[in-house]
Amino acid sequence: MSYRIAGDLHTHTLFTRHAYSTIAENVAAARAAGLEVLGSADHFSPMLFDEPTIKNFQFFINQRIWPREWDGVTLLRGAEVDIVDLDGTLFGENISCPETILDTPYGEDLPLIDRVTAHLDYLVASVHATSFADGATIAQGTDMYLAALENPKVFILGHTGRAGIRYDVDTVLKRAAELGKLVEINEHSLAVDAPDGRYHAACSHIAERAAEMGCGITVSSDAHMASRIGKFPRAEEMLAEIHFPEELIMNRSRASLLAALERAVGARVA
Ligand SMILES: [Zn+2]
Ligand SMILES: [Zn+2]
Repeated sequence: MSYRIAGDLHTHTLFTRHAYSTIAENVAAARAAGLEVLGSADHFSPMLFDEPTIKNFQFFINQRIWPREWDGVTLLRGAEVDIVDLDGTLFGENISCPETILDTPYGEDLPLIDRVTAHLDYLVASVHATSFADGATIAQGTDMYLAALENPKVFILGHTGRAGIRYDVDTVLKRAAELGKLVEINEHSLAVDAPDGRYHAACSHIAERAAEMGCGITVSSDAHMASRIGKFPRAEEMLAEIHFPEELIMNRSRASLLAALERAVGARVA
């Protein structure tokens, strides 16, 4: 059994600081890998800068100038936003943003996340730093992911099999399915698996439950350089092992991916 994966919605550019390719290099790599859709989702995260300001994250605010169609690849504008506490708060939700990048006061007081992501198509919500969740119960981890799913721009829960926060998979996938949102199967999680194979075991369990519960998934590279884009051999092998149903891989085609995006977050991409 082999799958056709036509889109990669979790990729990084140089903006991420520990990634190494430009958006143009990523588009070229996506095209070379045979992808129809590339989603760029750099980190919107406290790991990038000490100062959480619009100036530091202005990379995101002008992405409307990116062509929608670039060398035959449909280009989506996203961000990978950190979940920063057990309430499921996203980075920037509690940070004020009084002034523009030109130091002009905004007329309306909106949080940093709204200013930064206003023109993006979607968000991937992920946990990176986990100290806030030390000692957290499964119920708390579950509530955290449920809350993140309710953000209207969150389309994907990122690498939950690797993030290290325990949660009730069925409860979270049930809500994701209701909202038409996706749980990610992340190639990088499988590539960097711990010696005991726990990321593979977690990802496989998530995929099995998604298949059972009718929850859509997206297969992502989480590429931090262009050469990794559109390559998912471990994820595809794992999905084949469990006979994962192709119709729940929402990035199997451009049409299925864009329909899912519109259904989940209202982003309409022609
Ligand atoms: Zn990263
Ligand atoms: Zn990432």
